[in-house]
Amino acid sequence: MTRIALLGSTGSIGTQTLEVVRRYPDRLRAVLLTGHSNWEVLAAQILEFGPDDAVLSDPKHFDRLKEAVGSTRTRLHTGDGTIAALVRDTDCETVLNSLVGFAGFGPTFAALDSGKRVALANKESLVVGGAVLQPWLGLDAMRVLPVDSEHSAILQCLVGEGLESVEKLVVTASGGPFRTWSAERIARATTADALKHPNWSMGSKITIDSSTLMNKGLEVIEAYWMFGLPLERIEAVVHPQSIIHSFVHFRDGSVKAQLGTPDMRVPIQYALSWPERWESDSPRLDWSAMGDLTFEPVDTARFPCFRLAMESVAAGGYAPAVLNAANEEAVYRFLRGEIAYIRIPEVVERCLSTLSFGSEVTVDGLWNADGETRRLASSL
Ligand code: NDP
Ligand code: MG
Repeated sequence: MTRIALLGSTGSIGTQTLEVVRRYPDRLRAVLLTGHSNWEVLAAQILEFGPDDAVLSDPKHFDRLKEAVGSTRTRLHTGDGTIAALVRDTDCETVLNSLVGFAGFGPTFAALDSGKRVALANKESLVVGGAVLQPWLGLDAMRVLPVDSEHSAILQCLVGEGLESVEKLVVTASGGPFRTWSAERIARATTADALKHPNWSMGSKITIDSSTLMNKGLEVIEAYWMFGLPLERIEAVVHPQSIIHSFVHFRDGSVKAQLGTPDMRVPIQYALSWPERWESDSPRLDWSAMGDLTFEPVDTARFPCFRLAMESVAAGGYAPAVLNAANEEAVYRFLRGEIAYIRIPEVVERCLSTLSFGSEVTVDGLWNADGETRRLASSL
């Protein structure tokens, strides 16, 4: 029985993780569940899964949560910083982090620092803090297991291989809803246009990031820290069918790829079952219905966010943390209707060209970089 702490249980990855837990009651037990604002979903999860602890991090609806669950054995918590503190104290093997944004970094650090394994959906943790998380990363340590489908694909291709045999990693991208749009049309995109992802149903922040290709930029940075390969040996390619989840090229000219239908429950389950594989009722790939598999380069002229992400990791220090915070602010301002779609890369670029990055990254320094960037990004 693996005891898991599930952070962000009310979200897209969180609810799909609980589908896996529901399928394996004899192997997985959720001992900690956390939501932020969605008290109704969290209340139902507490009643069904009976965790030892549950957090609604936004205190606004905490009373309604308490009322909804009535008398329960689950200890209820709220407030800033509660998740990271509980992650340290909870008796569990694995922390599945499906929080969104920089809010996920503190809990990832707390989990690793207190000896737990992390099944990581929150790619922002590695983007901002890869440098301080490095001792726990890589194939030797195996303390961080990917939930992101591309990184799960890469890990699956690397089973039984050494990193010294790898020539390069190729991360696939769907291309998002604007793949075939002109730059002029993209500039006028509405929130409804940007929220229409062709292949995956996900939370709103990653859906916008997929439309700007910032998501692919974040994923290249995630792969860079997770597998420890130089940036020049990690490539992104647009593959609109989202059937091949990524490729690994080896030194002898051989290439491995991992394929599957777009179903996040597969990589979620693999992160929890690794190194084993368990049964699943996910839809199977059907060759006869699959059609053509096509590939295109990433167009950085129409999708400047991808270029900005690559520039930030090359600049080093706090630059990826600045990129991430500027992007989060810009995306939420776009979703609230405060800025036009075209301003998202502009806000990120302005923050990257205005703020300084230092070279040595510390845990405390990450909060300063994040806060300073958000102040600037919200004023632009
Ligand atoms: P969602 O927006 O659906 O879920 C986010 C979760 O985090 C919710 O439980 C939400 O609570 C909680 N949350 C939001 N803000 C805060 C905060 N400030 N403090 C604490 N908790 C918070 O996102 P997704 O599930 O789509 O994505 C989660 C992560 O996984 C992201 O990093 C994303 O990039 C990554 N990912 C997602 C994929 C997908 O298919 N969805 C695929 C690959 C990676 P509440 O809803 O209660 O407010
Ligand atoms: Mg992904």
